Amino acid sequence: MHIGDLQEHERMNTLMKILALSDRIVEANHSPQLVERYGDVDLVIGCGDLPYYYLEYIATMLPVPVLYVHGNHDKPTQTANRGTLDAPGGCISLDGRCMSIERQDNDSPLLLAGLGGSMSYNRKTPHQYTEIEMRARALKLLPSLMANRARYGRALDILVTHSPPFGIHDGEDLPHIGFKVFLSLMRTFKPRYLLHGHTHIYRLNTVSTTNYEHTKVTNVYPSTLIEWNGGR
Ligand SMILES: [Zn+2]
Repeated sequence: MHIGDLQEHERMNTLMKILALSDRIVEANHSPQLVERYGDVDLVIGCGDLPYYYLEYIATMLPVPVLYVHGNHDKPTQTANRGTLDAPGGCISLDGRCMSIERQDNDSPLLLAGLGGSMSYNRKTPHQYTEIEMRARALKLLPSLMANRARYGRALDILVTHSPPFGIHDGEDLPHIGFKVFLSLMRTFKPRYLLHGHTHIYRLNTVSTTNYEHTKVTNVYPSTLIEWNGGR
């Protein structure tokens, strides 16, 4: 094997494809076309405000983990048999948690943390937080992030949120103001990505990716493919 082949081999081994979704159903993703388009992804991440049946469909069709955080519009829903559904079945909550995903090549795992919800504006749905409340949620992640840093030499690869950070892709009305604590988390723990939703994009020239310190802040609305090549 030539060195060039070896490098290509290694590159292919370490590439990880992540399908990130938020806020709106993409009809092609809610049909058998999903497998044609994204049958090779390694991980799916829902960034909130997605109907549970949509995430469940994706979890059924793709044989990979489907992680999610909640959006401000997520709330318990009645099912046909009069049960209450407050989370998508077959999916894994990343909300308020840290998680590591092992990679096929036995490379260092992908390190994730999730903080769903939006700025609190009416309390009619469960996933609304003041800045102080979100700061308290972020503090609870610290022991895991510090443990990651000690074990892997880095604390976090991808921070998954619903709301954007304050001042980046956010709005001026209360529900759409971003969280300042997300800026602190990015400065302190240096994730490669912050994936968020919540801010709907209506114009083609709307900025959806912004570099902040070491982090690529990405509005995934409504569907974005991230190619993760590991390392830094
Ligand atoms: Zn939202």
